[in-house]
Amino acid sequence: MRFTGLLRIGAALAAVALAAACGTPGQGSAGGSKSLVARAGDTKKVTIGVRFDQPGLSLKVTETKFEGFDIDVAKYIAGQLGVQPSDITWKEVRAADREKLIKDGSVDFVVATYSINDTRKQSVSFAGPYFVAGQAILVRSTTNNITGPESLNGKKLCSVKDSTSAQQVRQKFAKDAQLVEYFRYSECVNALLLNNVDAVTTDDVILAGFAAQNPELLKVAGKPFTQERYGIGLNKDDAEGRTAINAAIEKMISSGEWKKSIDRNVGPSGYQVPTPPSITER
Ligand code: GLU
Repeated sequence: MRFTGLLRIGAALAAVALAAACGTPGQGSAGGSKSLVARAGDTKKVTIGVRFDQPGLSLKVTETKFEGFDIDVAKYIAGQLGVQPSDITWKEVRAADREKLIKDGSVDFVVATYSINDTRKQSVSFAGPYFVAGQAILVRSTTNNITGPESLNGKKLCSVKDSTSAQQVRQKFAKDAQLVEYFRYSECVNALLLNNVDAVTTDDVILAGFAAQNPELLKVAGKPFTQERYGIGLNKDDAEGRTAINAAIEKMISSGEWKKSIDRNVGPSGYQVPTPPSITER
C-alpha cells in the first residue's frame, strides 16, 4: 500500500517535471503546449497581438473596433482557423513586447509590422512574409535638409525601442544621430509635431499612414533604404500553426482579399501598393 502510494507520488512528480521540461507556456489565455490550430479549433477563440496606433495598418478606433491592413490579415487568419471576428481578443503589442508575449503565451500570434529576422527567430517562429516594406524617414513639411539616412547625423531622431528601425539606424545608417526612443510610433510623431525631434524613422508604410493624417505638417523624405519582410510571429515550436497561417496568407492573396484590403487601408495614403510576396518561412 505504502509502496504504491509512493509510486503514485513519484509518477505525479515526474509528470510535473516533464511538463516543465517541455516548456509549457505561462498563464496567458493563449497558453498551452498544443498548436494554435487545436487551441482555436477547441475554443473558437483566439488572442492576437497587434499595434493600436498605426493608421492604415492597425488602429484601435473604439474598445471593440479595430481597423487596418494588419487587422484584416489577422481577421482572415482567425477566420481560416474557425474563429469569428467577434471572438478575437485584441492585445496591444509594442515592438519591445512581441517576443515576450508570444513566448509566455499571452497571445496566440502577432500581426504587427513585425520584420522577420534571425535574432527574433531564436525566440519565436514566423509565417509569411505577407508584406514587404522598407525603412524610411518622416519629417515636418518645412524640413528640406533631411533627404536620406546619411543626413541624419547630428540630428535628433526618434524611433521605437527594440524595433529594427532603431537598431539599423544606430548600427548602419547614421551612427552619429541622437536617437530618442519611445515605445510607440505615435509618441515619436507627436514629438516631431512638437518640434522636440527632427525626424522619425521606421518602415515607409507606417510613416505613410501618419503623414496621411497630417498632410500639411508631415512628409516622408527620400527613398526607403532597407527591406522589411513582415511575418506573423508565433510560438517557436508550433510548426503546424505556421503551416496553417501560411496557407491562410496564400488564400488571402489568391482570393483577392489581400489586394482589396491594401487598396482600402493603405492606398489612400498614396503609398505605392506593392505586389504580394511569396511565402518563404516554412
Ligand atoms: N518592421 C520593423 C520591426 O519589426 C519596424 C516596425 C515596428 O516596430 O513594428 O521592428
